[in-house]
Amino acid sequence: MQQCCKHNDYFRYRNRDEIKIIIFAEAMKHTRNTTAKTEILNLISRSKVALSHSEIEMRLDGLCNRVTIYRVLERLEEEGQIHKFVNIDGHLKFAACHDCNDLHHHNHAHFNCVACGSVTCLEKVEPLFKMPPHYQVQQLNFTLSGICPLCI
Ligand SMILES: [Zn+2]
Ligand SMILES: [Zn+2]
Ligand SMILES: [Zn+2]
Repeated sequence: MQQCCKHNDYFRYRNRDEIKIIIFAEAMKHTRNTTAKTEILNLISRSKVALSHSEIEMRLDGLCNRVTIYRVLERLEEEGQIHKFVNIDGHLKFAACHDCNDLHHHNHAHFNCVACGSVTCLEKVEPLFKMPPHYQVQQLNFTLSGICPLCI
């Protein structure tokens, strides 16, 4: 009988420890995701040029995996902290937003330098165009390529 109780206690404690471990692991996961989000946002905000997914991954130096980076970038975009656009070479680039909330409200141009490969937001450059009737524009991708001021 006594042995049986001990046995039960053993399992009870073991389960409790396991629960503690699970809670700890969940907390760690949360901390890791929060850290990843802060780090990725810092990286993009501090960068003078737009960054691609692989450039972000390289600069994070193994802090988080590819899937986490994708998720964080998606979340940051939803929150209006960053915007993405397709570069002239077809790769996605990410850059910081200024004064966006959950709705992005910028249609600025991006500049791709063919010499150094940098891609920059030209926040004040917005293309002007006249659409024919019955077209409703929802997104705009306006990328110019040439030589940036640093490479001239
Ligand atoms: Zn934005
Ligand atoms: Zn350049
Ligand atoms: Zn931009």
